[in-house]
Amino acid sequence: MPSRSHTIVIIGGGFCGTVLAVNLLQSQTGIPTRIVLIERRAELGRGVAYASRTFPFLLNVPAGRMSASSRDPSQLVEFARFRLPDVDANTYLPRQLYGEYLQHMLSEAVRAAPRHVQLERVQDEATEIQTIERTGPVIVRAAECRWLADQVVLACGSPPPVGGAYARDIAAHPAYVRNPHEGECIRASDNVVLLIGTGLTMVDVAVAAVAKNPSVRLLALSRHGLLPTAQTDLRPLALSTGLDLHSHFDRSTLRQVFAGVRSLAQTVEGRGGDWREVFIRMRDVAPSLWRNLSEVERRRFMRHARVYWDVHRHRMPPAVAEQVASLRRTGQLQVRAGCIQQLRADDHRLKALWRPRGRSDTRELSIDRVVDCSGDDRRLAHTTDILLRHLLDTGLASPNAEGLGLRTGPHGALVNSDGQSEARLFYLGPMLRAEHWEATAVGELRAHAENLAAALSKAEVIPSGVLRRGYRPHDRFFQATS
Ligand SMILES: Cc1cc2nc3c(=O)[nH]c(=O)nc-3n(C[C@H](O)[C@H](O)[C@H](O)COP(=O)(O)OP(=O)(O)OC[C@H]3O[C@@H](n4cnc5c(N)ncnc54)[C@H](O)[C@@H]3O)c2cc1C
Repeated sequence: MPSRSHTIVIIGGGFCGTVLAVNLLQSQTGIPTRIVLIERRAELGRGVAYASRTFPFLLNVPAGRMSASSRDPSQLVEFARFRLPDVDANTYLPRQLYGEYLQHMLSEAVRAAPRHVQLERVQDEATEIQTIERTGPVIVRAAECRWLADQVVLACGSPPPVGGAYARDIAAHPAYVRNPHEGECIRASDNVVLLIGTGLTMVDVAVAAVAKNPSVRLLALSRHGLLPTAQTDLRPLALSTGLDLHSHFDRSTLRQVFAGVRSLAQTVEGRGGDWREVFIRMRDVAPSLWRNLSEVERRRFMRHARVYWDVHRHRMPPAVAEQVASLRRTGQLQVRAGCIQQLRADDHRLKALWRPRGRSDTRELSIDRVVDCSGDDRRLAHTTDILLRHLLDTGLASPNAEGLGLRTGPHGALVNSDGQSEARLFYLGPMLRAEHWEATAVGELRAHAENLAAALSKAEVIPSGVLRRGYRPHDRFFQATS
């Protein structure tokens, strides 16, 4: 049977899709490869995190730890020095510049790729995926086109937030912002703003709100009322020399893991390090720890410890932390532990009913705007994302039990509703958290992208005879390649 070029369709051109494409362009397999990168936004490389915004948000991690290539840790610093000569590994760069870095990486990879490896960029929204037989190609449908692929990678990020039950009655109210990552969520005329959630997204919205209206008053509310901690200077020696992480975490109950964390923190402090940095090293063992926990233990972790993990693992740049501390000192930003009971319309404003943690009485607050910073919805049951909805409804993908994202197997292969992992469909992105626990930051995602690119480069090309048996000859891809 004659073979054709290896076609890999990547859906989503944010960090993950872009870095995967770069790695595929750089792979040295000698097999003719066509990479189709479908992104609905006008620009590649930016995604949600590195999109252009009016407020100059900073990366949460210093430049020395943000290279998109694990083989070249100083790549970002070197790129940034062309624009900002004083940059070093400890600089917190603008997020917008990081998006430009990813775009630059991609165009360099396209320029340097061998002739038999080609990238096709498509601005469109993928809406459906269909597999043909058990080993045949995959059809990807978008609004304008369709493609036949040997492998498809969903690099579509996290599903959009759906908003809590508290917002049911006011979901369409102009003063309620369900997705803080889209557009400008605060107006200069907003004087009292309620922020639901107290993580890094809330911090972004709070500092941008103050820039827009210096006298705005902010109330941030979450179940525990805990803010992310500030980044501290990394002292790598205290973390690296002779520390055998596996001896600290060789057992699998939650209690034993906590004991391991405490013991590791003491060791690091004893060597002159900062105990918070333990979380940086723990990311190496987090996937195996997570997999070893029973379902009951995982749920226990989510209930009691997840919030503490998150505030220490995902931290603020020091300058932002100082600004937040100053806003809190003056009372302009108040952070409370509690939960929203209800939001209701009050003409063009909103009224929030909330209950402080540990109390039975409720408080009422009149506000100009509510911004829901409680995070993406990875439980997926009610997702409004068209492609994910389709994959779940057809059983090609399945949600994980803890509500952390999609079930995946080796290299992110999607696990279908029968529990089988599908060798033609992969997911790459933050929902890998379901399988690996830590899969949100650049450090983890670039490694997943590199491993997946290596696996895809070795994957077999589906012979074109399979196409002929079941597929329509007028299909756009069939005509182009057969
Ligand atoms: C605000 C913010 C700041 C962050 N800052 C840092 C940081 O400083 N350091 C760090 O290590 N990590 C940071 N992260 C985390 C990390 O970098 C991101 O999670 C990462 O960028 C995820 O990339 P992604 O490509 O998986 O998803 P996304 O960035 O969401 O990209 C997905 C892309 O897919 C497209 N898409 C989705 N569905 C379709 C479809 N059906 N058809 C076509 N296109 C589609 C979307 O338009 C989007 O562009 C940050 C995250 C956020 C949200």
